[in-house]
Amino acid sequence: MDSTESVPVIRQLSASVINKIAAGEVIERPASVLKETLENAVDAGADRIDITVEKGGIDLVRIADNGCGLLPEQMPLAFASHATSKIETADDLFSVDTLGFRGEALASISEVSNFTLRSRVADSDAGYEMVVNGGNHSEIVPCGCPVGTSIEVRNLFFNVPVRRKFLKTTQTEMGHCSEAFTRIAMAFPQIHFTLRHNERTMFELGKVDDWRSRIGAIFGEQVAEQLIWVESEEDGIRLSGYVANPTLSRGNTKMQYLFLNGRHIRDRSLQHALGEAYRGLLLHGRFPVSFLRLDMPADQIDVNVHPTKLEVRFENGRRIYSQLLGTLRNRFLSTDLTAKVEQPVGEEVVDPGQAAEVRDQFVNWARGDKSGGQTHVSADSGAKQTGFRFDQGQPLSPLPQARRVAEFQPFDTTPGFGQNAGASGSTVTNPSTESSELPAGESVFDPTAHAYPSLSPPAEVTHAHGAIQAHNRYLITESDEGVVIIDQHALHERILYEEIREKVLGGSLETQRLLVPETVHLTSSEAAAMLEAKDLLAELGVEVEDFGGDTILVSSYPAMLANINPADMIRQIAEQLDGHGTLPDRRDLIDELLHMVSCKAAIKAGDRLTAEEIDALIERRHLVQDSHHCPHGRPTTLVFTREELDRRFKRT
Ligand code: ADP
Ligand code: MG
Repeated sequence: MDSTESVPVIRQLSASVINKIAAGEVIERPASVLKETLENAVDAGADRIDITVEKGGIDLVRIADNGCGLLPEQMPLAFASHATSKIETADDLFSVDTLGFRGEALASISEVSNFTLRSRVADSDAGYEMVVNGGNHSEIVPCGCPVGTSIEVRNLFFNVPVRRKFLKTTQTEMGHCSEAFTRIAMAFPQIHFTLRHNERTMFELGKVDDWRSRIGAIFGEQVAEQLIWVESEEDGIRLSGYVANPTLSRGNTKMQYLFLNGRHIRDRSLQHALGEAYRGLLLHGRFPVSFLRLDMPADQIDVNVHPTKLEVRFENGRRIYSQLLGTLRNRFLSTDLTAKVEQPVGEEVVDPGQAAEVRDQFVNWARGDKSGGQTHVSADSGAKQTGFRFDQGQPLSPLPQARRVAEFQPFDTTPGFGQNAGASGSTVTNPSTESSELPAGESVFDPTAHAYPSLSPPAEVTHAHGAIQAHNRYLITESDEGVVIIDQHALHERILYEEIREKVLGGSLETQRLLVPETVHLTSSEAAAMLEAKDLLAELGVEVEDFGGDTILVSSYPAMLANINPADMIRQIAEQLDGHGTLPDRRDLIDELLHMVSCKAAIKAGDRLTAEEIDALIERRHLVQDSHHCPHGRPTTLVFTREELDRRFKRT
């Protein structure tokens, strides 16, 4: 073989191929189109931007702005790759004050879509239009249009079938679009934005001066009310914005927004600083909510390190890290936070009686006080019921009894209920459920209802086990083998898990139609994730529907979860689903949700149990397949064998 034949030929790629490659990097999905064109509208100085999206952006993304517009002679250049009005020299890369600067977006998008650009500058009577279909440019023709620019991107990836195939459902794509929208709309409260999807207005955000109003308009008042203003300036680096009161937290980091000179970014290190600032204030697995801005000289940042500019490099990352951490800690010392702790709202409430204690410990901790600094919230989910509890090295302190006892009725001992619940048709609330576990007359969401998610109570509790409860957390009893110590939460969780799983797999889970369907407000991507998992959720007895905006409607709910607030549960499920990115395998998802549900429904460590409740729990221990481990894999039971005890007491 001729040696030159085996050497591959090097070719200069055509502009079209180059643009397709660039499109592959920058334009991943309709939301990328929305982001790029929205950034252009902001860069053009618009103060009103209207967006219309159809079919999650797959069919259409249209953006109309009232910015500076383009001259007709500039239009072809705007579509050329690496053509931009925003920078000129390499040095400019380090003083970027616009959102865009690479001059790639229009070139990339128009290569893989049907693109129409209409624009008119202020001192011109007419506008001009240019169409680019899959990279083929048309003539520029005059058209009537208002001052500013409007862009229509239709049929994204029509000429890249592989890409098109990977697009997800309308719901999911729209979820990404609203997230892209949110990130920009949040950064610019002084711009009026509207977002419509399939003829429905999703956001109408009027101009506002203060950031809190914009955040409230996007995420709802419940979030806005929980925000604490923070600010600091060190060596020209200004940090400002809001962090949420620890009573408001999330199951993932998605509600941690950071804007660097107006650009939404993600930064792991700063996320870590945020987590550190909240250390001890949130339960394990919960993450702070924050809306923060960093403003600093552009020459201290490299914004040119990530294809979609989501990440940046700081010249002095460590300093910013400590500024963030220090600012939050100082802020947390203020009385403002304390006041909020005393008036809990949201899912994780603090018992007012504990507020003073929490405040003291909090202040100690924030001061870096040694003993205070080591306090931490006990990681068991029981703490969730009352918010923060600081474990001072002693066994978990019991919760105020009066409050708790009213709430927890782990096993209903109401006379007439339980002995033969399954057989008695008359106790069924909902005629459509065969053997509802709800006592007659109790509405599912009556907060005073005592129905507890569990198997129907044991047919009879014949012998007293004589188990005792220690530290409101462990049950101690004996078996033939030896002394048995049971973690009450872990065991109950396991029992519930098995019971619910059996019912789900057997298709016999009783669901309860809600008399008044609940609406639950979620983030866009959470709502999208929920709706995408709709069918799976239905198998679990949770029926959800799109209610418009980012609100979903819960119309039915598993009867056995009667005393768990549906909105609370839905939010948790949504966060979990959203955290996945893609919908997990059906079995995994069901399993995961079962874990979550059973953990939430189970009695908690810290719950004082009556003798009957203890007996009922121990009685059920034999009904589950694997009573030694809770669904998370922690042991439910420890046994000290008689031999071991004898050995330790030196009897042998
Ligand atoms: P970049 O934003 O990085 O400059 P783009 O490909 O997004 O690159 O846009 C190319 C150029 O087209 C911009 O630099 C700008 O001059 C012009 N342009 C794009 N969109 C608009 C708009 N909405 N209003 C005015 N000019 C625009
Ligand atoms: Mg751009």
